[in-house]
Amino acid sequence: MVHLPDDSLGIYVHVPYCIKKCRYCDFVSFEKVPQDEYFYGIAEDIKYAASKLCDRSRYYVDSLFFGGGTPSLANAAQLGIVLDALRKNFEMRDPEMTIEVNPETVTVEKAAEIKVLGFNRISMGVQSLNDKVLAGMGRVHDADRARLAYRVLRDAGFDNINLDLIFGAPEQDLRVWQETLREVLDMRPEHISFYSLQLEEGTPLYRDYTDGKVDLPSWEENRAMYHAAAEALKDAGYHHYEVSNAALPGFECRHNLKYWNMQPYLGFGVSAHSFINGCRGEADYSGSDKDVCGSRPDRSDECRFAAGKHGMFGLGPESESDLKGDFVFTKLRLLDGFRLSDYSRMFGSDFCSDFAAVLPELLKDSMLQLIGDVLRFTPEGLDNTNPVMGRLIEALEKPEL
Ligand code: SF4
Repeated sequence: MVHLPDDSLGIYVHVPYCIKKCRYCDFVSFEKVPQDEYFYGIAEDIKYAASKLCDRSRYYVDSLFFGGGTPSLANAAQLGIVLDALRKNFEMRDPEMTIEVNPETVTVEKAAEIKVLGFNRISMGVQSLNDKVLAGMGRVHDADRARLAYRVLRDAGFDNINLDLIFGAPEQDLRVWQETLREVLDMRPEHISFYSLQLEEGTPLYRDYTDGKVDLPSWEENRAMYHAAAEALKDAGYHHYEVSNAALPGFECRHNLKYWNMQPYLGFGVSAHSFINGCRGEADYSGSDKDVCGSRPDRSDECRFAAGKHGMFGLGPESESDLKGDFVFTKLRLLDGFRLSDYSRMFGSDFCSDFAAVLPELLKDSMLQLIGDVLRFTPEGLDNTNPVMGRLIEALEKPEL
């Protein structure tokens, strides 16, 4: 029997509209003006999901995250439609309320509107403070626009701001990256996310790269940028708590921690994911009116959800092996790692036995370290997170490896 923590609930709302598609982006987003119907549809899905949520009184919402796309492109009325539905259908307990914003959309009026709606955390996609790098990624804003947007948000009273940064981008070397880092650290946002640029198949950047029209930093340069960021953040007093995330103490992102701690969340809107009662689902907006349910034989009807008329989400039960894989994939991203005893408590089995096929080698190769009961990445392992996690998952799939 798998024991999952289910107490507080996170809610994610996907807003799939952008001013212009960035050259590296493969998120679900469209160059379109936000449509009222989309927000009314989400409101209906919220009502429907709440009515189908078994044992609803058990849950309370303590984090909301509007992501995208560019949620700040939606107007206050559209965002309000969704917030009203959430407040009417779920119990809220002092939620962290995050909205992602693009600097180009931030005006004094927009910042005030977002504040009045109740958002108390901003996540702004700055990515770089170098105009050449921004242009290479096809961002719609330049560095000055991002600087101005930050000041506007501060002036509007936001005291919990995340800035997203990207390294390993075209036109970027270690020096250029460190200039951005220095300036961002001087701005003193409460939270900084720093992601390596992912070259996603099908994007214009991918095509230019494979055609030899664009150059990217080498793997060694990319890793030097990552470690330079980790060091600079630590020196500036930030808590580097997840592979790509750091925060001033007390400002770790409550919502994203739910993903990394396997706590329940519901996602609304196109491509949004949900995870609750050991069932995982993805929103399906293929337009059908299907009735997709997930149920675990060992938990009666707890997981049963039906897709709403907007094709809300089909939640399917995860096998125990999938859940173990999720545990490794999510918890290892936290730099503090996890306790093997937590794994045993959740799954009733021994981590070292379940991963006996690969664990000794990963420890010997200094990819992972085991200190007492705690397993976590080494600094070397942080350069190889995907291969290491891949090996662990493989061991679950083929224990005889
Ligand atoms: S703003 Fe974000 S979601 Fe929109 S196109 Fe750029 S990377 Fe993609």
